[in-house]
Amino acid sequence: MKYLAYFWISIGIALALNAPIGAQSSDSEGPIVRPDLINKITESVYIIPDNFVRLVPNIGIVVGANVILVVDTGLGIENGSRVYEVIKELSEDKKIYITITHYHPEHSLGVEGFGENVVFIASEKQNQEMKNGDRIKNQFSRQSDINRDLINNAPYPIPDILYEDNYELDLGGLTVQLMSVGPLHTEGDSIIFIEEELVLFSGDVIMGGIIPSIDQEHSSFDSWKTAIDRIAMLSPQFIIGSHGDIGDQTLIDIWDSLISEISVTLSEYRSLGFSKSKAVRELTLLLNQKFPEWRNDRRRMASAVESVYR
Ligand SMILES: [Zn+2]
Repeated sequence: MKYLAYFWISIGIALALNAPIGAQSSDSEGPIVRPDLINKITESVYIIPDNFVRLVPNIGIVVGANVILVVDTGLGIENGSRVYEVIKELSEDKKIYITITHYHPEHSLGVEGFGENVVFIASEKQNQEMKNGDRIKNQFSRQSDINRDLINNAPYPIPDILYEDNYELDLGGLTVQLMSVGPLHTEGDSIIFIEEELVLFSGDVIMGGIIPSIDQEHSSFDSWKTAIDRIAMLSPQFIIGSHGDIGDQTLIDIWDSLISEISVTLSEYRSLGFSKSKAVRELTLLLNQKFPEWRNDRRRMASAVESVYR
């Protein structure tokens, strides 16, 4: 009990330190990427922040001496071309590579907006998920007219380079490690680490201010813990999730405890004989209490419950 009290106080402090940059924006204009908000994080790394808009990812841009790497693209061709305009300004005719943290439409469907001369790199698992990705595309498309317009003409991109578990990329003076760490949020989650500047693009594996969303069929919170251990070994200074606030190393401990808390609590609920719907209700209450500022929704809680009750 003592430990828990200490733990939640330290989380409070860490959260205060990781306060959101900028004001909360509304979703009313739809998932439109805002390249004008581009932000320099380190010497070579920029992000176009998600601006707290649903279905907009944090887009990473890593500028090496020879190659510029884009991490995640925005939803659809129109958003992809907006990002491309910014890249052209930064790139001075450097070769452009694109990769994704996972296959979901707001991360992958903008690749086409970059035109012909880009090299798209994905993992085998991500490629497989894109091949079977029509269901989620249709689901997003049905949510609003703007989603439909953004998505409908955008195909999942075909990778030029495929990797299985790890892939090392030399951008010229910068070494980038692509690591396949799923199944967690999807089967093909990858993290992307820029060695020289200790920047980690952590996908949906660690995010600032957002409760985890687990792939209920394939993943477990145990494998999530393993991935977090692996991330801790990298000692990243900047952790940029595919949505939400940028964090520092403290975010690793927060997520480590968060994942344990969810996993232990749900095992407890299960042995107490709680029904799934009761477990969802109770877990939502608990996490809303402990993480009042964090984005959460019923869908996240429902898949957490499914994955443990499976
Ligand atoms: Zn996702």
